[in-house]
Amino acid sequence: MSGNAVSRSSGLRPGTAGRRAAVSLPRPTPILAGVLVLFDIDGTLLLGTPRAHTEAFVRAAGDVFGVVVTVADVTAIGPAGRTDREIARLVLRRARVPDAEIDRGMTSWIARLAGLYPELDAVHPSQAIAPGADAALTALSARGASLALLTGNIEPLAHAKMARAGLGRHFARGQGAFGSDHESRDALVPIAARRAGGATAVVVVGDTPRDIACARAGGARCVAVTTGAFDAAALHGADAVVDGLDGVAEVISGWL
Ligand SMILES: [Mg+2]
Repeated sequence: MSGNAVSRSSGLRPGTAGRRAAVSLPRPTPILAGVLVLFDIDGTLLLGTPRAHTEAFVRAAGDVFGVVVTVADVTAIGPAGRTDREIARLVLRRARVPDAEIDRGMTSWIARLAGLYPELDAVHPSQAIAPGADAALTALSARGASLALLTGNIEPLAHAKMARAGLGRHFARGQGAFGSDHESRDALVPIAARRAGGATAVVVVGDTPRDIACARAGGARCVAVTTGAFDAAALHGADAVVDGLDGVAEVISGWL
């Protein structure tokens, strides 16, 4: 503490009464330096149905592939934890679009989805921000962790959702891994780690068994949250299961 700093108790010393106290709080030790924490979006940072996303998804499929698909078709393939590219393939196969045609149109479909999203996002209700999300991200950063997104959302939608939720400052562009990077979520941890420039440890925070599987595939640990569609029993394969984001920084810190 510098000679000019005044501690909390200094008001009890003679001659300091009435002086404005400059309270000097200890800085948190960066105990998570070198740790990369990768956050899922839907069911983890944001809760509820991503209506604008799903609506843009099916409209883009119709525009690019010339087939009629519905929100119910997306729900039918069990989209939780899948990448947007994987969901698109499964939905389009059900609509009898051949794989070769899906492959040819995938880039156009991603661009169309990204293009349609903003206007639909403006007319559909937002997803709720998970309780404690901002505080958990702030606490992890304060402890020295690097933060990035690992989500099945295509990259433009992921950043748009974070910006709208007021969480965008936590997630630098050019970091993380997305549903636009690869069809398989299991391939995403190494992509995010490479973009982060290497990390001594990687932790995935997500809400589905597929988040756990992708952590395992990428040599990462996993904190599962029960704020999505899966309960603690369904998420038993995670290194830790918590009922919200409040405890995530403590859980991860406790592993060191
Ligand atoms: Mg999720």
